[in-house]
Amino acid sequence: MKNPSDFLQVDTLILGGGLTGLSTAYHLEKTGRTDYLLVEQNGHFGGLCASEQMDGFTFDLSGHVLHLRDPYALRLVRQLLRGNLLRVRRRAFIDFDGRRVPYPFQYNLWALPPQTARECLQGALAAAQARRTARPKNFEQWCLQAWGEGIYRHFMQPYNQKLWQNAPSQMAWDWCSDFVPAPDLAALQAGARRRPARESGYNAQFYYPRKGGIGALAQALADRVPNTWLHARVQKIDLKRKQALIGTRRVRFARLVNTLPLKDFIQICDAPPAVQAAACALKSVPVHVLQLALKRPAQAHWVYFAQADIPFHRVGAYSAFCPENAPQGCGAFYAETTAPVADFPRAKKAFIKALKQKGIIEKQDQILFSFWRKLPVAYAVYDLARARHTARILRWLQQHRCYCAGRYGLWEYSFMERSLLQGRDLAQKLQSSL
Ligand SMILES: Cc1cc2nc3c(=O)[nH]c(=O)nc-3n(C[C@H](O)[C@H](O)[C@H](O)COP(=O)(O)OP(=O)(O)OC[C@H]3O[C@@H](n4cnc5c(N)ncnc54)[C@H](O)[C@@H]3O)c2cc1C
Repeated sequence: MKNPSDFLQVDTLILGGGLTGLSTAYHLEKTGRTDYLLVEQNGHFGGLCASEQMDGFTFDLSGHVLHLRDPYALRLVRQLLRGNLLRVRRRAFIDFDGRRVPYPFQYNLWALPPQTARECLQGALAAAQARRTARPKNFEQWCLQAWGEGIYRHFMQPYNQKLWQNAPSQMAWDWCSDFVPAPDLAALQAGARRRPARESGYNAQFYYPRKGGIGALAQALADRVPNTWLHARVQKIDLKRKQALIGTRRVRFARLVNTLPLKDFIQICDAPPAVQAAACALKSVPVHVLQLALKRPAQAHWVYFAQADIPFHRVGAYSAFCPENAPQGCGAFYAETTAPVADFPRAKKAFIKALKQKGIIEKQDQILFSFWRKLPVAYAVYDLARARHTARILRWLQQHRCYCAGRYGLWEYSFMERSLLQGRDLAQKLQSSL
């Protein structure tokens, strides 16, 4: 497979060399199934889990830290990184009314202005007393039932509106349980009085490579996966004939694994009009990331900004995750937005002005260099029709022995641990369906 001829026959063709595709290939290798081929359009592996080194700084593709809750995933990451792994206690905040409120907002009401804290607490108590049994119809109703009017109005609504570029009332809520900590009224009341002794939330601690940025994880997997083509863009897929056009090369396959964004993938498939229409209806938002090398060390890991007049929704620092990511006395920072960016120099000016206003860049700080990175499909939007459309598409694909996985292959809100696990599970499924 190193020098592919014009035509190749493989058992399993894996589309995409991000964590999900790599994990699928790695686990196929482990079960002895080496008759696969993984194809990746870029000249490197990792997809979103990639890092780049510049002048002693390491930048990821926006903040990527590992939340490892599954024992197998933790064992796998430890094995792959062989000591090159840090465990880090989270230092994350919400910028609110000139204050730094520790994350998660709802368990740190003590840090809010007193009137806001009262409104949030009263709203949460009223929501708990209402004991609604009706299933929420949308994300707005879910927030109001779980957290009440105050927390919704002061944080959940503006932040989510800004991140998703969609109104919470127009979104589904089935993605929330893994990411938004479930309500714990006692903890909320205690957190209204004083700072909690224990951090809460799904990511109170995280893991991160000691060296090489988050891309070190993808590279460690890629080093164990030999049957790959880089610079290999998937152009066309014929699922009926089981043929793919990869660049200018043709590949025949028995089974197909897709980790490409579902919407793009369907566009290059021989899908019937109803499936094409369902794919066209899927919505996503991009992320534009301003990467900054500053002559200033970083403190917080990341800070959320819900305010409509601040151009980014989150700012973080790779060098706060791990000091190796910047030279001594310097910081590698990122600032993200999901809003459209038409004029990059103008957007950069607005970002820097706001970073100064928020004290992230101080007067004496030198900006050594900066550049933009775009993640064209960053968040699959959970609008109210998403579940129906994805179910229709995935049903059709399964009939053709095409298995989708990963955040974009399944068009879901997902994370790196799940990519590793989905790759393992898919390899097992492929093994048992021979
Ligand atoms: C802003 C942001 C922050 C995040 N932060 C975190 C975090 O802190 N922690 C966490 O666990 N997760 C985080 N995630 C999620 C995480 O990035 C993903 O869950 C994971 O990286 C998805 O991996 P994947 O392999 O499924 O997809 P991808 O990484 O997108 O890989 C798909 C691959 O397919 C390739 N490809 C696309 N089209 C073609 C084509 N036509 N031909 C060939 N190849 C193609 C791409 O180049 C890419 O390499 C974040 C995501 C975003 C957007």
